[in-house]
Amino acid sequence: MTPDRNAAGHSAANLSVTGHGHGASGKFIEAADLSLSFGSTPALRGASLGVTKGEIVAVMGPSGSGKSTLLHCLAGILVPSSGEVHFNGVRLDRLSDDKRSALRRERFGFVFQSGQLVPELTAEENVALPLLLSGMRRGPAMAAARTWFPTLGLDGLESRRSGELSGGQAQRVALARGLVAEPEVLFADEPTGALDSVSGELVMNLLVSAVREQGTTVVLVTHDARVAAYADREVVVRDGMVGTLTGAKP
Ligand code: ADP
Ligand code: MG
Repeated sequence: MTPDRNAAGHSAANLSVTGHGHGASGKFIEAADLSLSFGSTPALRGASLGVTKGEIVAVMGPSGSGKSTLLHCLAGILVPSSGEVHFNGVRLDRLSDDKRSALRRERFGFVFQSGQLVPELTAEENVALPLLLSGMRRGPAMAAARTWFPTLGLDGLESRRSGELSGGQAQRVALARGLVAEPEVLFADEPTGALDSVSGELVMNLLVSAVREQGTTVVLVTHDARVAAYADREVVVRDGMVGTLTGAKP
């Protein structure tokens, strides 16, 4: 990991946008007192979370508690109605839409529950997608994508479309797509949610070894304690707020 990827010309990550240093606690990602409602439904009600660089944090909690909304706020996909989100000293929730999407594209990776592969594309094209979207030429992008297939036990599946992959295979393709651009932060929302426990463990083992190697920071939403056990730390979201108690009944 180069500590200063901005210097390489990542415009969206230009730290002059806010002039702030790190968040108050000096965390890599810092969310303070986030609130957000969908109509009259409160999804977040004063949620706070700090994540250290290189840390793998599992976000647990019952269905509907606000886990996905929190993840989307941390990733700059949603903007909270109040509270602050800092990423590496940048006030994410104050960036323009354009700057936020550029920052997402350049510095974050995503893995979602269903994988959300593009069905018209082959597995290797799906993996190459973040590189192609950031302007890499097709040849090198596809070559970089292909290197992930043996790593993830997907040899020979490069030209399959998502309809021709098992759930576990599709989820590993989605994981490769989330990591191919070597993001600084990987946001994963129930990445094993559609898998049986054996495939889920396989995906988590691959995820953890890949991110440890890259030094990636990971925020992982899961309702599965076995999945959360792979993380460095667990937090629990309840009623739109973040606590650290595990084991309490909902
Ligand atoms: P979780 O991921 O923990 O299941 P969510 O963050 O998805 O929880 O949802 C939190 C609350 O916000 C729930 O009550 C949910 O129904 C509501 N919610 C989430 N997204 C939307 C949306 N796009 N429109 C309306 N309500 C939403
Ligand atoms: Mg969710």
